[in-house]
Amino acid sequence: MKSVAILGGGPAGAFAAEQLASAGLKVLLFDEKLAWEKPCGGGLTFKAYSQYPFLLDNATPKRMVTETVLGADKAGTVTLKLGDPLLIYSRFDLNRMLLERAERAGARIEKARVTSLARYGSGWQFHTSSGRADADFCIVATGARNPLRDVGTELQPQDTMSALGYYIPGDRERIDIQFLKGVEGYIWVFPRCGHLSVGICGKGVPAMDLRKRLEQYMSARDLAWKGARFYSHLLPSLETASWKKNRVAGDGWMAIGDAAGLVDPITGEGLYYAIRSADLAARALLSEVGAAAEKIAAYRRALRRDFAGDLEFGSRLAKRVFLGRFLFGSVPARIVQFTRRSPRFSAIMQDLFAGRQPYLGLKKRLLQNLNGSLYEIAMSFGFSRLIPRKARAESIS
Ligand SMILES: Cc1cc2nc3c(=O)[nH]c(=O)nc-3n(C[C@H](O)[C@H](O)[C@H](O)COP(=O)(O)OP(=O)(O)OC[C@H]3O[C@@H](n4cnc5c(N)ncnc54)[C@H](O)[C@@H]3O)c2cc1C
Repeated sequence: MKSVAILGGGPAGAFAAEQLASAGLKVLLFDEKLAWEKPCGGGLTFKAYSQYPFLLDNATPKRMVTETVLGADKAGTVTLKLGDPLLIYSRFDLNRMLLERAERAGARIEKARVTSLARYGSGWQFHTSSGRADADFCIVATGARNPLRDVGTELQPQDTMSALGYYIPGDRERIDIQFLKGVEGYIWVFPRCGHLSVGICGKGVPAMDLRKRLEQYMSARDLAWKGARFYSHLLPSLETASWKKNRVAGDGWMAIGDAAGLVDPITGEGLYYAIRSADLAARALLSEVGAAAEKIAAYRRALRRDFAGDLEFGSRLAKRVFLGRFLFGSVPARIVQFTRRSPRFSAIMQDLFAGRQPYLGLKKRLLQNLNGSLYEIAMSFGFSRLIPRKARAESIS
């Protein structure tokens, strides 16, 4: 295998191009827009920039945010300090930086739309808006709206969330996250360099309804949306059954990032998984194992082991997190109240925001801390005398 075509130049495609070109492969990347302001919060977690330090160490403009305010119906708000800050980029800047790195590594970047692809011998032939091209192998990185039907995740309506919002002038130091009553999703306010990105995502709710909810939220907080730039896009949010049959690779191709449905079904985080899956795909392609079929199997295994198993588990939790009930209240309200009252619970939330706490170990950690958290909550209400001395001692230890 000597040449690889990469279809799509978002974070997934650009990072795969950089890795493969650095290793000496002939890489041709197509993107119909190249660097663009993709509708996105642009938030990168500690998990992302600790594994890929170049995301932090560069001259591209970005914000570091150390505080988030969580809100839920009937619970008010709580401020959560982020020991590991969230990094926020404009997507134009992030995409441009990644594409430039790919180009410097030797990838050829072409601004063109891929309109079709077909097997040609043991390789591929592509039709694009600017002509035709060939390659031995194909990486599909065309995002959530992948127009190429035969490759990548086959997203069904139940595997997606609508996500939309406004870019508005403004500045602030914190992120706001507002849970929504009866909706599997949330509203966010992210400070970017020079403006705020205010958005909403929700599963199974018509986009018009989400937009109305967002506008009500913004009006109530003096965030002027009239005349502001509107954006909307699709967010993969795979159901558990869809993770099991997810089409991430096939004969002569691998899909990465949103085109492979690799987005956290609870938080909507996709940037880390785009970069990570690109890395895993590149490693599988460059590995010593011989035939292409073995490399494809190696990529599938690596994805599952590295994070897809955790995201699949997250898809089982999503409905409980947004729509579930705990101790006679909604789970989002309890999250806000527990974060306010219990330092132990707050530490778990911080780790979730940083990407340090996988979903697979979450239940165990919550249960291990339940006594302690409830004790801290009772103490914060001044109920210490209601808790037997023995239980108090156990909770503190
Ligand atoms: C509103 C919203 C907010 C989000 N906020 C966050 C966030 O704060 N943090 C986070 O981690 N994730 C967030 N995400 C998810 C994140 O945006 C995606 O997971 C990420 O962009 C995936 O990268 P990608 O490279 O796979 O796909 P994309 O970034 O979508 O890139 C795909 C590229 O393919 C190109 N393309 C598509 N079809 C063709 C074609 N036929 N020919 C040529 N080129 C083509 C497109 O032009 C595009 O550049 C958000 C998503 C949405 C919708």
